[in-house]
Amino acid sequence: IYNQMQDLKGNIRVYCRVRPLKRQPNSHGIVSNVEEENISLIIPSKNGKEVKKTFTFNKVFGPSATQGEVFSDTQPLIRSVLDGFNVCIFAYGQTGSGKTHTMSGPDNITEETVGVNYRALRDLFYLSEQRKDRIHYDIFVQMLEIYNEQVRDLLVTDTSNKRYPFFKIRNSSQNGINVPNANLVPVSSSADVLNLMNLGQKNRAVSATSMNDRSSRSHSCLTVHVQGRELASGNNLRGCIHLVYLAGSERADKSEATGDRLKEAQHINRSLSALGDVISSLAQKQSHVPYRNSKLTQLLQDSLGGQAKTLMFVHISPESEALAETISTLKFAERVSTV
Ligand code: ADP
Repeated sequence: IYNQMQDLKGNIRVYCRVRPLKRQPNSHGIVSNVEEENISLIIPSKNGKEVKKTFTFNKVFGPSATQGEVFSDTQPLIRSVLDGFNVCIFAYGQTGSGKTHTMSGPDNITEETVGVNYRALRDLFYLSEQRKDRIHYDIFVQMLEIYNEQVRDLLVTDTSNKRYPFFKIRNSSQNGINVPNANLVPVSSSADVLNLMNLGQKNRAVSATSMNDRSSRSHSCLTVHVQGRELASGNNLRGCIHLVYLAGSERADKSEATGDRLKEAQHINRSLSALGDVISSLAQKQSHVPYRNSKLTQLLQDSLGGQAKTLMFVHISPESEALAETISTLKFAERVSTV
């Protein structure tokens, strides 16, 4: 039933979120207004005039939107995971645009300011508990990082082996897409998952030694796998939710980026455009979907398209200095959008 309800709204949804303006000298806002589904930018043009450009998405959240409001439409997706469907939630945007804020929350997290992750997990366990007389659920967590097109396990406890092994993504008829060698940890509460998320964050930081701010240069994916058994019928169901923090979408400054930095930027740009290609071909209902062009889209293959649900939170920074990135972000968002 919930899945049908979701179908009415479409399987791919794109939400845009604008964070509050940072008060900086010489900086002014470029977002002129935000309505339900529209966002307008004021763009300076060559002849000194300004042009207003409006973009339309499934929903637009302005600077004063609360974490609760941002999450509210996500709630039905959690139900559909427990009904046996796959869901992907992405956070896209340039570094500093608010991805972490939406997904995790600000540095000092309170009950009001916790992000999508925690709210989603809390609902997942709450609903599974509510159904326990009908369905028994086993829930497992995996957390992976994709950096320079290599997949690593973020849930390793023994980091003495500094070179984390890289893992292969497999596709088996029995298990679907899977990363067989990465830890798959059974969990029984959202607190368990939060502890694992902290471990994953720490591991991400450990690998950052050679690179400053590595975390914004890699994708990370927290996956919660749900296996249910209907007590009356013995029928099994399986669903999962991927919570994906994408690498910062900013283009590398061509004049500055060299060596490792350039390679990194190229990997990020290529994998984000591969993701864009997959989602936009699904949005346009094309028969060929190019999943094989990046590790990210390979990993998420059975959770993008088909009956799966995709929700992308696209973040923009409202400052005038960010104009070029903001326009490029909104163009990406338009391309993957179905509205
Ligand atoms: P990203 O993860 O995309 O690099 P962050 O989530 O770290 O960006 O956001 C950058 C800064 O802006 C942080 O200090 C964050 O707390 C703040 N911020 C982002 N979004 C919001 C928001 N919606 N409301 C208030 N502050 C925000």
